[in-house]
Amino acid sequence: EAKRHGRGRAAHYASGMMEAVAERHTLENDIRIALTEGQFHLAYQPIMALADDAVVGFEALIRWQHPTRGLVAPASFIPVAEETGLIVPIGTWVLGEACRQATRWQPHQHVAVNVSAVQFRSPMLLAHITAALAESGLPPHRLEIELTETALVEDGRQIAHTLSALRQLGLKIAMDDFGTGYSSLAHLRDLPLDRIKIDRSFVAAALTDNHSMAVIKAITQMGRDMNILTLAEGVEDADQLALLRRLGCDAVQGYLIGRPERPSSSPPPARASGAR
Ligand code: C2E
Ligand code: MG
Ligand code: MG
Ligand code: MG
Repeated sequence: EAKRHGRGRAAHYASGMMEAVAERHTLENDIRIALTEGQFHLAYQPIMALADDAVVGFEALIRWQHPTRGLVAPASFIPVAEETGLIVPIGTWVLGEACRQATRWQPHQHVAVNVSAVQFRSPMLLAHITAALAESGLPPHRLEIELTETALVEDGRQIAHTLSALRQLGLKIAMDDFGTGYSSLAHLRDLPLDRIKIDRSFVAAALTDNHSMAVIKAITQMGRDMNILTLAEGVEDADQLALLRRLGCDAVQGYLIGRPERPSSSPPPARASGAR
């Protein structure tokens, strides 16, 4: 009886796995279709400098309007796109679209584009970025590439090489979600970074957890000493904003300042609303 029960469970488990594999195949297939049928679009979230509360740029965030599933969040398809390599054509499309749209903004505003670790390792990355800049006419200094610690931790030599090649193109480099990965402060010293984005988990906990606040304080201090801009992600309320001002963060991003939104035909605001 126990044995039969166990076998039943194993069979159930196996069929569950098969469902997961099938689901993954469907998703992969759907991503391919989405690419050719133009089901992706970009939403833009404002980035506000704390020196003068001006919107100094926008982060491009991919959105997928699936014909039957509805809006699919990046967290549920980016991992599959990375495993299948489809992140490279997706990322290439994102770069082109983001650069094109940014040319319509005010000339001092930059566009931040997320580049996956897989895409970062692609030998075509530089060619894709060069093409996006050339085709849009966006000045390179208005493009910022966001990389996560995962992208910047593996194979140090190759990374340094790619980063300095990107630097030579004139664009900016940001480390995204800082504090959640495993890169050391010593490692940061060797990377040519323009900006560090402090992960929103620290911001969320800052008012109630002294350790989170200490981490933000240490990162902003280090940023000042190393001439790297610091930005706090996920700012949702006025108390968090006040704390980040006090700690000396250079910029903030979050629902309090503005949610990611599809571009309208009118130009984006020069100043943030509701941030003070
Ligand atoms: P990320 O680059 O760290 O982007 C910030 C995420 O935090 C976005 O989620 C944004 O909508 C969300 N967010 C912004 N402000 C707040 C806030 O105040 N509170 C909370 N709770 N969340 C906030 P989203 O758009 O779902 O994107 C999730 C992740 O997917 C991104 O994290 C990024 O890693 C990845 N991603 C998004 N677009 C792209 C893309 O075009 N290419 C690649 N490779 N990855 C992308
Ligand atoms: Mg990002
Ligand atoms: Mg982030
Ligand atoms: Mg994130």
